[in-house]
Formats: sequence, C-alpha cells, structure tokens
Amino acid sequence: MKKLQGNKFILVVLVALLAISGLSIINSMEIAESPGPQPVLAVSSQSDVPLIEELISDSVKNALENNPNATSMAPLRKFPYPYNAMMAISSDIDDTTVEEFETYHQFLNTLEQTSHGSGLGLDIGDSAWLYVVNDSLTDLDKEGHKAEYSMAYFQGLNVNVRKDAEKIINYFKVGWIDSLHSFGDFSRNDRSVKFTRDLGAVAWKEMNDSGFKPKVWINHGSESNAQNFGAFNPKTLFKYQAGDDPKSPYYHTDLTMDNGIRYVWNSIGMSQFSYDNPLFPIKLRDGRQVWGFQRYTHDVVNGKYDWTWETHELHRQITEQRLKQLVQESKFSIVAQHLGKGSDGFPFNPIDIQALRLLKSYQDDGKVLVARTSRLLDYARAQKYLRYSSVQIEGKTYININSIEDSVLKPTTPTIDEIRGLTFYVDDPDKTYVLLNLTIIPKDQLQINGLDRSSKRSIGIKWYTPDFADYSQPLKKVTL
Ligand SMILES: [Zn+2]
Repeated sequence: MKKLQGNKFILVVLVALLAISGLSIINSMEIAESPGPQPVLAVSSQSDVPLIEELISDSVKNALENNPNATSMAPLRKFPYPYNAMMAISSDIDDTTVEEFETYHQFLNTLEQTSHGSGLGLDIGDSAWLYVVNDSLTDLDKEGHKAEYSMAYFQGLNVNVRKDAEKIINYFKVGWIDSLHSFGDFSRNDRSVKFTRDLGAVAWKEMNDSGFKPKVWINHGSESNAQNFGAFNPKTLFKYQAGDDPKSPYYHTDLTMDNGIRYVWNSIGMSQFSYDNPLFPIKLRDGRQVWGFQRYTHDVVNGKYDWTWETHELHRQITEQRLKQLVQESKFSIVAQHLGKGSDGFPFNPIDIQALRLLKSYQDDGKVLVARTSRLLDYARAQKYLRYSSVQIEGKTYININSIEDSVLKPTTPTIDEIRGLTFYVDDPDKTYVLLNLTIIPKDQLQINGLDRSSKRSIGIKWYTPDFADYSQPLKKVTL
C-alpha cells in the first residue's frame, strides 16, 4: 500500500504540473493568483486511483471467478433505464442527394430551428454507397438531377474520382451514417451486373484507409445487385444473390466479414413491427456466419404487400397504437425507410412530423429509446449474450462483465461502448460496483436508477450522451 501511495503522489504531481503548464499558456496572470492546479483534474485522479486498488481485493476477485454463472444477485433489465423499448429508423440511401440528406438529418438529429420546424434531436443514422451505376432516368430532386447525382463516395465506378467521400466519412464519424447500403447502387433497367469482386476489394481498402467503416450491411435493389447476400435460395426471388458464393465472380463475404460487418439485412422485408430480439443467425455459403436483423418494411392488406418504407408514409409506420404496444411488450423495432427517395426535397408531410414528434414524446417520457441501427443491434447482441457474474460480500454487490458469448461472430471481451445501456437490477445500487473483466468501471460511466415499473432499483452503464450538433452547417459553409 505504501508503494501505491507513492505512485499516487507522483501521479497527482504530474497531473498538477500538466495542469499548471496548460494554464500558463492560456493566461500566466491567472496562475499567479491561483493557489494550485485546477481541482477537477487533480481531485479526480486522487479519488479514482486508490479506489480501484482497494475495491478489487483478492477475495472479491476469487468470489467472482469462482461463481462464473452467478447472476441472481443482479439480473439484467431488458432495456436501459427508464426505457421499456428501443427503436431505430433504418434508412436506405436510394436516390438521395447530399442536399436532401443534410436537410432531413438537420431536422431529425439537431434541435435547430429548421425550415421544417424545430429539430427533433433524435439519434437516427443512415446508410451510404460507394458506387452508383443505376441507369434509371427518374428525377432525384426538383432540379431534375438523375441517378449519377446520388450521394456516393466515388463518381460512378471511377475509383480515382471521389464524389461525396469527404462528407460520407465525416457523417459516419459523427453518427449520421452508420450503415453500408451494400457497396453501391448497381440496379439497372438493362439487367446487366456491373459489380465485381475487385470493386468490393477497392471499397474495403478505401474504407480501411478513411475510417468510414460501418458494421451494418443492408442489401439494396434486385437482381442486378449480385453483391447482395444472406437470403440465397435457388427456388426464390433471391437466387441471384451471389456475394457469399465462393465460386462466383461477385464473391466478397470473405473480405466483408473480415473487415467488420456484423449485421446484415438480407433483403427479406417483414410486416411484423417488433421483436423480442431483432437478430437471427445466417449461415453463408462460404461457411461463415453473420447476424441477420429484421426490419419492418410493409403491411399486408387483403393478402397483398403494401410497402410503407417510402417517403411521406412514415405516419403509417409509427402510430400511437404501435408505440403503446412496443412499450407494453418491451420489444425492439427497426423501421425501414427511404428518407431521401422522394423528389420533392423533404420526406415528411405534417402528418409524418406529427408521428415523429409522438415518437420523441415517448423518448422524453422514458418509454422508447430511439437509437441509430448499429447501436440498437450492438445493444441487442450484448443484452442477449452477456456473460457476467455477481456476488455479494459484506453488504456490497459486485458485478463482473466477462464477455459477450456470441456464437455467430466469436466470444469477445466487450469494449465499454459495446456494453453501454446494460442495466442490472440490484437491491442497493449505491452499494454496487460494476467491473469489466475484473477492472472497475468508473462511477462517472455508471447510472444509478430509482424504482421502475416492476418496483425494482437498478444500476447500469450509461448510454451514449445525446449529440444534437448540427453537423450539416460547417460543411455547407465551406461549399458556399
Ligand atoms: Zn436500396
């Protein structure tokens, strides 16, 4: 313990010196009047360092390790407190211009006064393309732009010309994009297949270099999009899917899985709105496995598909009755959309905005947590496959998170972001300590909760801090 005290002293002095040198650059007068370093830095390191060492005594470690399956002291809550459901809006980037993307995301994600009313401040992600070779003559917008004007990383198939790459990279980094809508828009009226494995390889090299690297893959379009995978069946519409066929010139799932795609929408739309867990395993033809996920895409009316995933249809997707039921049943819902597909510049009529404001009120009331698709799926995976143990020693509860025992991908020790939102019911959250792989999680990363609707208290790892920043603005200014 003496040695620790010594280390602690050195650490505090170092922090103090850093704080002083930092401040002196800003204002040397200020430091002259100040009796010492800024307290925030010094105090936090003083209290955190010894706390960690004292808490994880050998007896606690042994107890946790000897009871690897003891979870009864701290059962998992289904959703982060206080929510009883989680929803994502998962938008395919078809026919979307950069201007449309920025207009509707400013409205959805920020709290700004926009031309369509005050922003909602919801965590809604989107998808992106690298290539567009669609030969459709449909107008994308009021100016009559055609398919080649769609938001895409490269210009057509020319990998030497970046089109909207900088914007896509930036919007991925800030969370307005979190999914890949396959490698691109290869839909063709002439039914030719323009995708090749080489284009996939270049795409992954570019994504690795740039940091635009989604873990969600969403298939796009029909049979010209041979890159699609996950639902191949020689007897169905999906017999064209070749992305996972090692014998095909369109094979790429070796690259795609190795580069971090975890979750795949395999082109099969669902009329079911909500799920206990949206994930299901998919076995690919190259022997690999990946998580599929369910998206609500359509209703069935008189035995016929009525696709509701179009602009100006959102009010039919998100209704008060569905939200009530979602909360009542404690479920997940992923609502598929094509937010940029319309040509009139904005995807929502007043009635759709009303539906979105209703959704926001459900979040504000602590009922439904709205999360971008990748966060919802990571949460659903962690919540279902978490391996942890809990013990009580001398009136204190210790919870140690060991791993995510994911049999489809592989078991891993999670990062703190991969366990955000996980919440444990405990008798006394104030006397509970949560550890990740036997290292204590700092208190500022934890959330202590009061009674919920089951009259139980809980402690959880904090969800992501809301981010309402208007990321469309600085970029727009640059182009003006
Ligand atoms: Zn699409």
